[in-house]
Amino acid sequence: MTLLEELREATLKAGRPFLAHWEVTSCCNLDCPHCYLSHTGAMVRESEVALVIDCLEAHGFLLVTMSGGEPLSHPLFPTIYRTLKNRGFLVTICTNGTLIDEDTVGLFQRYPPFSLEISVYGTTAEQFRRFTGRDAYHRFVSALDLLSAAGIDYSLKMPLTRRSLHFARDVEILARQRNVALRIGTLVYPRLDRDPAPLMERLPVTDVVSYEYSECYDLTSRQPAREPTSELRCSSGRNSIVVDSDCHIAFCGLLREPRFHFSCVRTFSMALTAAAHLRATLEEAYRQGPCSRCAIADCCLCCPAQSWLHTGSLCSCIPYFRDLAEAKRSYRK
Ligand code: SF4
Ligand code: SF4
Ligand code: SF4
Repeated sequence: MTLLEELREATLKAGRPFLAHWEVTSCCNLDCPHCYLSHTGAMVRESEVALVIDCLEAHGFLLVTMSGGEPLSHPLFPTIYRTLKNRGFLVTICTNGTLIDEDTVGLFQRYPPFSLEISVYGTTAEQFRRFTGRDAYHRFVSALDLLSAAGIDYSLKMPLTRRSLHFARDVEILARQRNVALRIGTLVYPRLDRDPAPLMERLPVTDVVSYEYSECYDLTSRQPAREPTSELRCSSGRNSIVVDSDCHIAFCGLLREPRFHFSCVRTFSMALTAAAHLRATLEEAYRQGPCSRCAIADCCLCCPAQSWLHTGSLCSCIPYFRDLAEAKRSYRK
């Protein structure tokens, strides 16, 4: 176990904060049809940046993930990032990479990120445009070249969808050629407001599982079998939270209601407590629901947040997830 993993475990046991996933803006320069975010145009205001960072520091958060939308589309990205680093946080950046330029690379050289996760949406200009609705492939490639030339580590991640399945092998090759890790995400979610439009991009279960268990699947990690449990597995509300671009704490990336506003360290603390109480509600819903007694739960990724997004109830079985879990089980036999 790495030191960071030990700290994550220790904070979990002690009920202390560890990870804040900070959505600095809901805006993005791309337009991916599978995107589960509502691009409301919200972005953290200059006057709120210090407030958020003071609150995270006062409560002892160690790791901050800067995300969006596209975090680099925030005009204050360099200032926010530099301030977080100067205050001693470990910072992970989740980005589509297309706004990384020489200045950004210079910033990362002076203040190395803890990790830099870049989404990949194609290996040609045409694939990229069809996936994202934007002609930005050259900027994506240029970003990877600049980072490599500067010796800055990054990893790639790709959502497996109807639009990306046909170039997934090319993305594996790209990752191999650049000698970087690649993570493939196989789930597509409804939007945070429960609009099911992104599900049009979702692959049939058979395609997901045959890709996940295919011979060439060597750069990504299959979901490991998990012990059956009647408890919620994630750590949200215990040592991790989401801070949105309007100064609210939300339980996790997929469950944004209820969310709790804060305007000072004291109200941040109250919002943290409210998120912890929400966790108790979700745990109870999980215990009462079908997943806690399900024979194939070890292969299923369902949880109250997923259930809510898909059905409007915190504890329902989602047919797509059930079919996926059954298919994974049969592959494992
Ligand atoms: S790059 Fe990410 S945030 Fe932007 S539209 Fe695509 S999925 Fe959404
Ligand atoms: S999506 Fe589900 S498993 Fe993930 S953090 Fe939210 S509640 Fe937990
Ligand atoms: S969503 Fe359905 S298949 Fe998955 S764990 Fe829950 S009850 Fe089981």
